[in-house]
Amino acid sequence: MGVGRIRAIGVAVLAFAAVGCARAPSPLAPQFAGSIGMPHRGVLTSAIELPPEGEGYKWLRQDNRHYGIPRFVRAIERAAASVARARPGGILSVGDLSTRTGGQLLPHLSHRTGRDADLLLYMTTLEGAPVESPGFIPVGPDGLAWDEKNQRFLRFDVERTWLLVKALVEDPEARVQWVFAHRNVEALLLEYGRARGESGETLWRAMEVMRQPNPGGPHDDHVHVRTACTPEEIVAGCEHTGPRRPWIDALDGDAPEPDPDVALLEAILRPFGSWRPENEDRTASNASASADAAPR
Ligand SMILES: [Zn+2]
Repeated sequence: MGVGRIRAIGVAVLAFAAVGCARAPSPLAPQFAGSIGMPHRGVLTSAIELPPEGEGYKWLRQDNRHYGIPRFVRAIERAAASVARARPGGILSVGDLSTRTGGQLLPHLSHRTGRDADLLLYMTTLEGAPVESPGFIPVGPDGLAWDEKNQRFLRFDVERTWLLVKALVEDPEARVQWVFAHRNVEALLLEYGRARGESGETLWRAMEVMRQPNPGGPHDDHVHVRTACTPEEIVAGCEHTGPRRPWIDALDGDAPEPDPDVALLEAILRPFGSWRPENEDRTASNASASADAAPR
């Protein structure tokens, strides 16, 4: 290989590095920390590891794939604990989050920035006794799953899995943007939530965030939870992608976008004479006061 060719490759590598790592922490951008970039193109610093087991959960596998941003890791712990307290006996199997420094984590497309977690579905025997999930086993539309390892059918534990989803969407720190799940899983969970008489707000959030991803696998054997960046995390390099959730925006103090239909209706119904020109008998002081009061 000639020197010119090596130099050309070197320039190309440097150019790629400059573009590909534009948001990675570096001496030029020391403010980037935490979840940096997007879930499918990013890295992670200052992560904490979900402990191998805790109240109501345990790792599915013993490996180095359970790191996330601290508030998300704690939200998973809280959600698992709340299910365990409400319905003792079940155990949540936790699959992959991210590695300690993030970046590519095969076979996933995302899971690179500490904002994604794979949580297995709770399972019971056919008689309803809670069992530890034997791993990723697909659930059919009837809620049954074949456990190859133990040569038996298990039942999707709709109740505990619903309680998990409910805990997550109601937790302001969790800021759940997505719960990727197969439509069969979603249908069973929502049907159960409605029958249980959950609040409209909780059901609406669950309906908004649950989605069968495409591409990304059918998700009939686990749910994949993603947390949205906080405003502070965005300043530190977290890149928002995908839909905004109004209840999360409300937490951040962002007024929801005014509905254009409502604004038009108000304009039509506003009585004549409610608007007055402001130029009569006006002093400098009340002029500035009215400027401050004007809507922006
Ligand atoms: Zn996943």
